[in-house]
Amino acid sequence: MFKKILIANRGEIAVRIIKTCKRLGIPTVAVYSEADADTLAVQMADEAVFIGPPAPGQSYLDMARIIAACEQTGADAVHPGFGFLSENAAFPRALAAKGIAWIGPNPDAIAAMGDKLESKKLAAKAGVSTVPGFKGEIMDDQQAVEVANDIGYPVMIKASAGGGGKGMRIARSEGEVREGFQAARNEAKSSFGDDRILIEKFIERPRHIEIQVLGDKHGHVIHLNERECSVQRRNQKVLEEAPSPFLDAATRRKMGEQAVALSKAVNYDSAGTVEFIVAPDKSFYFLEMNTRLQVEHPVTELTHDIDLVEQMIRVAAVEALGFTQADMRIRGWAVEARLYAEDPYRGFLPSIGRLKRYVQPAEGEAGPGRLRIDAGVREGDEISLFYDPMIAKVIGYGKTREAAIDALSVSLDRLHVEGLQSNAPFLSAVLEEPDFRAGRIHTGYIPEHFPEGFKGTAPREAQLRWMTAAAAYVHTVFTERAASVSGRLTPPPAPGRVHEWSVLLDGQRFDVEISLGAGALEAGLTAADIWIPALKAERMRLMTSWLPGQAVFDARLDDEAFAVFLTEKLEGYALRHRGYAAPAIVCAPRVAELYARLPEKEAADTARQVLSPMPGLVVSVAVKAGQDVKAGEPLLVVEAMKMENVLRAERDGVVKAVHAAPGASVAADDLLVEFE
Ligand code: ADP
Ligand code: ADP
Ligand code: MG
Repeated sequence: MFKKILIANRGEIAVRIIKTCKRLGIPTVAVYSEADADTLAVQMADEAVFIGPPAPGQSYLDMARIIAACEQTGADAVHPGFGFLSENAAFPRALAAKGIAWIGPNPDAIAAMGDKLESKKLAAKAGVSTVPGFKGEIMDDQQAVEVANDIGYPVMIKASAGGGGKGMRIARSEGEVREGFQAARNEAKSSFGDDRILIEKFIERPRHIEIQVLGDKHGHVIHLNERECSVQRRNQKVLEEAPSPFLDAATRRKMGEQAVALSKAVNYDSAGTVEFIVAPDKSFYFLEMNTRLQVEHPVTELTHDIDLVEQMIRVAAVEALGFTQADMRIRGWAVEARLYAEDPYRGFLPSIGRLKRYVQPAEGEAGPGRLRIDAGVREGDEISLFYDPMIAKVIGYGKTREAAIDALSVSLDRLHVEGLQSNAPFLSAVLEEPDFRAGRIHTGYIPEHFPEGFKGTAPREAQLRWMTAAAAYVHTVFTERAASVSGRLTPPPAPGRVHEWSVLLDGQRFDVEISLGAGALEAGLTAADIWIPALKAERMRLMTSWLPGQAVFDARLDDEAFAVFLTEKLEGYALRHRGYAAPAIVCAPRVAELYARLPEKEAADTARQVLSPMPGLVVSVAVKAGQDVKAGEPLLVVEAMKMENVLRAERDGVVKAVHAAPGASVAADDLLVEFE
């Protein structure tokens, strides 16, 4: 076994790998850039080596620095995680030259599979079904049009060296092929330094289903069944699950056999993933192979009771696999959500900054199932502009798909992220959406169900009840506390005193009677009697462990357990449950009457101005002064965090002025476009 493992990565995946090393008793070395000096991975590793400035090219992608770190610490093996150098065959070759082991597949397998064009040819040769298309490089737009006409529309134009959902375009006509070919080529050149393009059939309403494989250096390859990752935004995975609600045993077996055949064809000897798209009629086509650990590997680990990082380490140390294909039976269901620092209410724009508060629910029991959280951050850490904006992976699992989804939902309710916006409300909304619940998903699921972007979900009556109860309770505690502060002339309230409130929730008024019970009932729990006539005729019992300062209001109202997210605002409270968010004001009923007579506040007219939502680089501008624009039309593209973000018109209007030009660096809130 290895004496010391260096993790050539950062964040969540570095932490994940260190955990397994600790369990196996193997000392670890973290490497870190200037931006990551004080991170969880650095704290957890036995040793840490500084490797350079924040820009990945000068740190996490710099092989020489990482090799020097190995030599300096005596690490005899490197785990690359995912992203960065994980799929760069030159890195394991350079390590081998120094006698350092690589915890990943052999470099020839990486090289063979690292390229979408070459791997497609190889797959076809190994008897794997591939997406219909021309199996060669497309040289110019004339050839692109010919090939596309041959394949039949729509087609997908892809960068052969692409990854992370980048450099891909759908074309539905000759014109779109011409346009898309050039654009894809430019993007491929600038993102991957390789402008080779391929064109294949675009499969309509497909599912993304992938097979986890595991091989060793003794010629064994097995598969660990599938993961479904169809819920995607702009070709990037958002929710992943195992198994797939779509596959039958026969299709699963065929896909597994093809994945193993392809892996054997390249002498695959580590953990890897063979990605397929599956058409509605269950025909399936090879997409690409990822020759590394996959972001969503936990759902496979949970349903197969296996630690894939441990297996990667063991096979890298030339151990033979300790089990056979027959052992790989699926147990239960797991669903993973990628918690991103992005604002779902503003077109999913990156929302970077410091995690002022970050409290995650405890792992283990969660609702009808269990919870696993893979995070790389702690409260106070920064989600920086230099790296992937993932905060954590939240994974629910249980006996059934429903139990796994519920476990994930209740866990997301109990997650406290403040200081930046996360996509948690959006994830929660998807987890409750009926088509998702029924497993009716495909890669266009998000644009189909959220065509206007995410605006929050409408409240259910139970949500109004829980939020009203939470706001009334919190306000009562604050009121009684204020009254009992020593030095006050008014006597402290008698236990059981009845408070009458009006809760103005999202424009609706709910009258409430509430009295707090006398102290703690059970350890850490207090009770209140509450009556909200408009929402339920009878009086209800509210029990909660909430304490002032907490943002997660975890409670039980009669028989219903729930957790509402609640923060104090200048006036009232901001509340959220799942995808529904609303402000609340709690006041005396006569004050509520005054509120009702106040003229309605005009919303600030921000629609006339488009401000930059984050610091970034203007890539292109699509409009000019005097132009008529319809709601939803693109205005300009700003690049930040490796991603191009399209800013769109929020409503119809005429452009008055454009204040940004391509190539300009902009700060957050810089004025970009003005409307008349
Ligand atoms: P997965 O199937 O594991 O989700 P992805 O293709 O989404 O794989 O990529 C996994 C990770 O690697 C992500 O963090 C992504 O940002 C990063 N990544 C993958 N390919 C590239 C690339 N070519 N350039 C930059 N980052 C990449
Ligand atoms: P990446 O390397 O960026 O992960 P992939 O080739 O794996 O690129 O494709 C990513 C996603 O793009 C897939 O999960 C799927 O949603 C979509 N996609 C790719 N190729 C096709 C295709 N031919 N037809 C339909 N969708 C596709
Ligand atoms: Mg892929």
